[in-house]
Amino acid sequence: MYQKKWGVMLLVLALVVVLALTGCQPAAEPEPGEHEVETKETDVVVIGGGGAGLAAAITAADNGAEVILLEKMPRLGGNTLISGCAYNAVDPERQSKQGIEDSIDLHFQHTYEGGDKKGDPELIRILVENALDGLHWLESLGCEFKDEVYTVLGALWPRSHTNVKPLGTGYIEALENGANERGVEIYLDTKAEELLQDEDGRVTGVKAVDADGNEIIFTARKGVVLATGGFAANVELRSQYDSRLTAEIPTTNHPGATGDGIVMAEKVGAEFVGMEYIQLLPTGDPETGSLAGWLAPGVDQMIYVNKEGKRFVAEDERRDVMTNALFEQTDALMYVVSDANSVWEVTSFGETEEQLVEMGKVLKADTLEELAEKINVPADALVETVARYNEAVENDHDPDFGKKLLGHKIETPPFYASPRVPTVHHTMGGVKIDTLARVISKDGNPIPGLYAAGEVTGGIHGTNRLGGNAIADIIVFGRIAGESAANSK
Ligand code: ADP
Repeated sequence: MYQKKWGVMLLVLALVVVLALTGCQPAAEPEPGEHEVETKETDVVVIGGGGAGLAAAITAADNGAEVILLEKMPRLGGNTLISGCAYNAVDPERQSKQGIEDSIDLHFQHTYEGGDKKGDPELIRILVENALDGLHWLESLGCEFKDEVYTVLGALWPRSHTNVKPLGTGYIEALENGANERGVEIYLDTKAEELLQDEDGRVTGVKAVDADGNEIIFTARKGVVLATGGFAANVELRSQYDSRLTAEIPTTNHPGATGDGIVMAEKVGAEFVGMEYIQLLPTGDPETGSLAGWLAPGVDQMIYVNKEGKRFVAEDERRDVMTNALFEQTDALMYVVSDANSVWEVTSFGETEEQLVEMGKVLKADTLEELAEKINVPADALVETVARYNEAVENDHDPDFGKKLLGHKIETPPFYASPRVPTVHHTMGGVKIDTLARVISKDGNPIPGLYAAGEVTGGIHGTNRLGGNAIADIIVFGRIAGESAANSK
């Protein structure tokens, strides 16, 4: 297909050159009506084939709708596919086996307060009350979770579930199969460019373009679901809201996270919330910005040290607090230091310890002194830092930074260190939705026929999304959006 496209492009280029040289004018545009624009009609059109879009498509189909899903990239998955895959849900069955006390109210409180009370309490309630049901729904589609829960970075509590498969592959495989089994028609390489409205302002379809540049009009008898993800990979847009986020700062996101849904929704009068709240993580790979490339133990099993070999923040803090603290350190660079007891055999990114060490992403040593030499920090400082941290673990009290999740001492060789930098991760802001995932317009009323779910929406996570809440969000609200769209009058 690409060869064909290049061939056509070369031919056109050659023609233009010949015409320019001979002073001829190109042939006139075809007469209107000569070029038929392809049209397709269905009940529900979903824009975006990440977790939110697939959950919406499946649920719309389960509610009796005929569904078309558009994905601009050559494959499904979006950020969901490359996520660390943590899913927060209060899950008494799993948590009780580990002696973890938890409640829906506590999850609510962590989410609301962790976002500086800027999230919409009604939407947060829906998220925390339906997270476990969403997890069971994923299981019913064949997605498998490990039995143990943990505290993913920035989650504030051990209620993060992890998939048996690496990254988000377990989610996307299960969702893709679910969509295919229900006859959802999936158009890859098809980019939605504009939402179409009738004279009453109802959203009735989508104008899209395929990989060859052909326009296709998708008409939706019932509704359109916007599930295009966030805008962390759009440097121009993100730096409008946070001037630190220049092209120098890497991102964890896939290249398609360019905020197309924001642009399309703006044109039909949607209201936006929290656009200025853009989340960075302190754990980006210095070369790629990716979350891969380190051993990623639970937050209770590691410490962060700066280039001077000193801790500088509680490692179980909110993501924004940790990243802001990292920006204050020399070269905004830190090392995640852990030991033999902290290490997972395989990370959620599917990497093994040996691979990471071999690639030079993780430094490994038998003593802390040797580790210090490998990462070029003062050995006495690192030894002193670890000793002081181990004292905090022993006393279950961290007088320096107030870390609460003090798992175990860092004392068992081999020791590990991975360099990490700030990286743009999640855009908390986006289109405003109500509890039925209807998109709200600037005049405060729902825009008929338009629904949204996932990272394209705003108002749930406030200023700071908790680690592990995004996947729960996209599944819970993706399902709601699909149901609402299918049942729309
Ligand atoms: P979420 O977590 O909210 O589901 P993801 O990033 O996982 O977000 O998925 C969003 C998907 O939407 C991505 O696969 C992305 O390529 C796709 N997408 C973004 N913009 C468009 C567009 N204009 N047309 C079609 N698909 C789009």
